[in-house]
Amino acid sequence: MKTDLTLGNAGRYSGHHMKNPVVLEKYTLGVGDRFAHQAKAQLAACLCAEARGAVVIPVWNKSNREHKIVGSLPASTRAAADAAVRELGWKHAHYVDADHINLDTVGIFLEVCDFFTIDVADAIGKPPAAGAAEAFLARHPELAGRVEIPGIPAPLEISRETALQAASKFLGAVAEAGRIYRRIAEAKGVGTFVTEVSMDETDSPQTPPELLIILAAIADEQIPIQTIAPKFTGRFNKGVDYVGNVEQFEHEFSDDIAVIAHAVKAYSLPANLKLSVHSGSDKFSIYAPISRSIRKFDAGVHVKTAGTTWLEELIGLAEAGADGLATAKEIYRSAFEHIDELCAPYATVIDIDRAKLPAPDAVDLWTSEQYAGALRHDQKNPLFNPHLRQLLHVGFKIASKMGTRYTDMLVACEPSISRNVTENLYKRHLEPLFLRG
Ligand SMILES: [Zn+2]
Repeated sequence: MKTDLTLGNAGRYSGHHMKNPVVLEKYTLGVGDRFAHQAKAQLAACLCAEARGAVVIPVWNKSNREHKIVGSLPASTRAAADAAVRELGWKHAHYVDADHINLDTVGIFLEVCDFFTIDVADAIGKPPAAGAAEAFLARHPELAGRVEIPGIPAPLEISRETALQAASKFLGAVAEAGRIYRRIAEAKGVGTFVTEVSMDETDSPQTPPELLIILAAIADEQIPIQTIAPKFTGRFNKGVDYVGNVEQFEHEFSDDIAVIAHAVKAYSLPANLKLSVHSGSDKFSIYAPISRSIRKFDAGVHVKTAGTTWLEELIGLAEAGADGLATAKEIYRSAFEHIDELCAPYATVIDIDRAKLPAPDAVDLWTSEQYAGALRHDQKNPLFNPHLRQLLHVGFKIASKMGTRYTDMLVACEPSISRNVTENLYKRHLEPLFLRG
């Protein structure tokens, strides 16, 4: 399969047997729909943005971990997405993303997905084949020394030492990405899906020089990569704002875009290659920097949101009052009681101060306004409690265990929920990212 793929100078795949390869659009928004009930409300947010002139393409993403916890299969995500597109008459593209897959988990996603997030973070630092790093540098002498990159004021100074170290650190991961990519391409056909490579779920952020080396290696591996998710500086906790140095983030984000533009030309990667921001929901303090950076370079971006929608379901239930509010309270109580079990798989991406969690008995007395105020991500609201929000973010397992009792309640409270789902994605995400300035 590897030999079937040739990357033309324009970054298009020139395999003659293939017409119209899938080319991911410039602006894309990853949306997550844990219980497959909110696709229409999510798409409605994209319709609002489209009405104001910003076409942002929805990508429904759901990882193997989420499917396992909820007890669902990728076909349900595909069915919900396609139905929403049909019912709302969305004229643009949409995708279903096999989120954070590897060789072990990709199988169930092959048939219905057309976007694959190949996660090789676990392979970072695993030693590559003997001599591979040296051979890589011999092939790429341009990577050791002074690299001028348009858009970055000072040239990157990469010593041979640093380049060799970075090659040793990342070549094994890129080789693994190649194996996964070829497995998908064999099953689906070259050019029929979008390929993302993600390295975000690791300890240390990747620097712009490392990104350049990774991209050169990805080109060598002939992966037609359209989005890349590096780990950025700072903390990207689930469902809450960015924690870190915003100025430094903007600097690095902007440099990463410059590195990508350079690598596209230098290594004939797909021309639409862009950054993907994982755990991108609710990172309000970096939306202006992201928006400025993509405008500065006329670059695209993929911003991934997922669990933020499930939290809007809870807010919608709470605002519906009566049984809806009671369900939201029941979920909080159970999440509070199972906190260790719920937080374990997400330990590196949440920061919960347990002393700041309200007691379930107290929450039981709350009004709709109190519950929604504590949960909704409005940092100006004195009722807002980020600890409660993060706990509920990882608490979707509780709702999944309730089965149809939960999903029937979603149907019963639909107007209140869909209003919140749409407004959250449109007002708090799409507007600041794509419609300001
Ligand atoms: Zn991720």
